[in-house]
Amino acid sequence: MTTAVNQAMVEKYKGNFLKEVTDNVEEGNWVKMCMQCGVCSGSCPLGPHWDHPPQELFMMIRANKREEVLSSTSMWMCTSCYNCVARCPRGLPITHIMHGLAHYGKRMGMKPKNQPTEKFGQMFWDNLIKKGRVNELKLGLGLYFKDGFAEGVKVSMGKQKLGMNMMKAKRMSPMEILGGHGVSDLSGFHAMLKKAEELEAARVGANTDAK
Ligand code: SF4
Ligand code: SF4
Repeated sequence: MTTAVNQAMVEKYKGNFLKEVTDNVEEGNWVKMCMQCGVCSGSCPLGPHWDHPPQELFMMIRANKREEVLSSTSMWMCTSCYNCVARCPRGLPITHIMHGLAHYGKRMGMKPKNQPTEKFGQMFWDNLIKKGRVNELKLGLGLYFKDGFAEGVKVSMGKQKLGMNMMKAKRMSPMEILGGHGVSDLSGFHAMLKKAEELEAARVGANTDAK
């Protein structure tokens, strides 16, 4: 892949992918602590179905398999169950590293195409930032109708019972369609997000300076 930022990183790190991960991926500085015991991969309920479970990804980072790691679908499938984190004898924050790798792959323009989990992640984020709290009804409907109206109606009909149960358990209210609850200080919440974006842009800019 040849996006300018990706090229700058390739030139900056000159084949030292472990250092690149250490400097740029969330919690990536932990990868060097992995002792390849395989407990995380054995504990991951989904790992056996992925191209590369966590232990393998960490080994590939050390082996400079940059292209294979950053374009892998594996970290996009992590459900944040934290099984691996609870069991890692070295205490690696594996879940965060998995999401960090996915995010970094996206920044580098190397993420795999049409990841359903990415679509959902974006939908969740757009929903959340409107009011500072997730509107579960709108999020659910957005998810059901993401592949078109006819498909949405079909999926919704099949989920009627689930929806009714959520309403009974007060996990969802039909009134949420009108807007739902938000945080009390919405402008403060948006200011906080803006500041976080500025800090992240400054950090990325500093790290992307090739020389
Ligand atoms: S459990 Fe921890 S130390 Fe063992 S392979 Fe996984 S990340 Fe590495
Ligand atoms: S947090 Fe992700 S990587 Fe870890 S066990 Fe769960 S699904 Fe697997």
